[in-house]
Amino acid sequence: MTTARDISKSVRDGNATAVDTAKSALNAIAEQDEELGAFVCVCEEHALAQAERIDAMAADERKKLSLAGVPIALKDNICTEFAPTTCASKILDTFKPPYSAHVTEKLVDAGAIIVGKTNLDEFAMGSSTENSAKCITRNPWDRDRVPGGSSGGSAVSVASGMTPIALGSDTGGSIRQPASLTGVVGLKPTYGRVSRYGLVAFGSSLDQIGPFARTVEDAALLLNVIAGADSRDSTCVSADVDDYVASLSEPITGKKIGIAREYFGEGLADGTRKQVEAALDKLRELGAETVEIKLPLTKYGIACYYLIATAEASSNLARYDGVHYGHRSQDAGDIVEMYSASREEGFGPEVKRRIMLGTYALSSGYYDAYYLRAMKVRTLLRRDLENAFAKVDVICSPVTPDTAFKIGEKSSDPLAMYLADVYTITANLAGIPAMSVPCGFDGAGLPVGLQLMGPAFSEAMLLNVAHQYQIYTNHHERVPS
Ligand code: GLN
Repeated sequence: MTTARDISKSVRDGNATAVDTAKSALNAIAEQDEELGAFVCVCEEHALAQAERIDAMAADERKKLSLAGVPIALKDNICTEFAPTTCASKILDTFKPPYSAHVTEKLVDAGAIIVGKTNLDEFAMGSSTENSAKCITRNPWDRDRVPGGSSGGSAVSVASGMTPIALGSDTGGSIRQPASLTGVVGLKPTYGRVSRYGLVAFGSSLDQIGPFARTVEDAALLLNVIAGADSRDSTCVSADVDDYVASLSEPITGKKIGIAREYFGEGLADGTRKQVEAALDKLRELGAETVEIKLPLTKYGIACYYLIATAEASSNLARYDGVHYGHRSQDAGDIVEMYSASREEGFGPEVKRRIMLGTYALSSGYYDAYYLRAMKVRTLLRRDLENAFAKVDVICSPVTPDTAFKIGEKSSDPLAMYLADVYTITANLAGIPAMSVPCGFDGAGLPVGLQLMGPAFSEAMLLNVAHQYQIYTNHHERVPS
């Protein structure tokens, strides 16, 4: 396994060239991606030009690049000036953004090589990447199974070793759930820690961009690059950014780990429960103390999330009208017909379902009963967590109730798909950081993830705990054949 840390060190020290590292990622994509379907676009020309730029730099300039020559994949809802950004939707099929996202700029400045854009559920709505208008993405551990979603392509790129790191977005679990289902590390930062400028909006009060990596250390390295203030996103905070790598090696003796019964109840598969419980034993062996806590409002999370997320989505997606961006219907008679036909032709079924749900929740007469009430429950959920964090440092839980399911198995049952988000959405509703770290395999040999949640801006602590766990175990060393 080659890590981002090792690649950038070799390039900085002059033991490898960025062109070679870029080419090796491009070759891996050419060899594997026809079958895996992780990428919707490969940016070969851009990648090689960036690599040449890095190789041509003066050695002392190159030494300053923390991701020198490191290949990275970006979820295709993160804007790139040099490549289309489609959100895996027909409505944006031909959209090439006039600007790059804040995180894209940061990566280029840090010397990373963006090799391609990855598949997702259309507009990040889903948990399997099956809602993509582009292609099917397969789980490298079992190619008949989904990789999770919505950032399924980014997870697969890392899990299969096509790129050592990738970026995704997480509105209700879309980084952590695919990370868990493909056996890689995934982190959703605190709301406001990473700028959303240039991230195509889904649920604006929930969305965050975050890293995927094989090792916790690489995730920390990547977060170091993308976190921090940006005046172009008014929700992005200016609080100091920790050095997420510096604190990884601290011992975790005495750390208090909260365990809530609500996260281990009915519906949790035995294979997943076993691995998560084993992980808690390992954390105890490392000197952490586990404490029982109560999060009684957890059960309202799904209802609350699916009202708020769809309401915000219906508002955000109003801009796709056949005029401003992307697809315009050719057969409409007048302008109203054109709006409606463009949206009818451009959006897939799940996106339409959410626009309808969200429009209903926001409509006059229903706003108070649905949207406003959901916002009140959200505040209560956040308080529930604040109370818990007065007693513990980290809350540990499964990421998902079960491991990867078969492609097509849940497509006809959207509600079943929604319900499986039960463990991840609370962190988005509360705005707190949360991550998934591989913690073993179930009876069928499929990866299981351990979720760690912490108070706002505690990324350094979460990464520290996850790193200590990871180097004490060896789950991340096993790779799919
Ligand atoms: N699975 C959740 C949903 O379908 C979360 C999606 C996300 O985080 N983007 O909304």
